[in-house]
Amino acid sequence: MARRTEEHDYRDCTDPDCPRFPCRVYKEGIQAGYWRGYMDGESAGFAAGYAAGAASAAPAAG
Ligand SMILES: [Zn+2]
Repeated sequence: MARRTEEHDYRDCTDPDCPRFPCRVYKEGIQAGYWRGYMDGESAGFAAGYAAGAASAAPAAG
């Protein structure tokens, strides 16, 4: 099943628009992991900072 048309390693591919399937899947995996970590970090920071931020922010009512 090995294809000899692979000219470059998907791990070395730096083309964000590379049409190669392994490259796209690999990039999607990186993005998924990145966004997952990003969302986790944001959630943690949000949870920790929201209370303090909301407490210090004056409500702009009126
Ligand atoms: Zn590629």
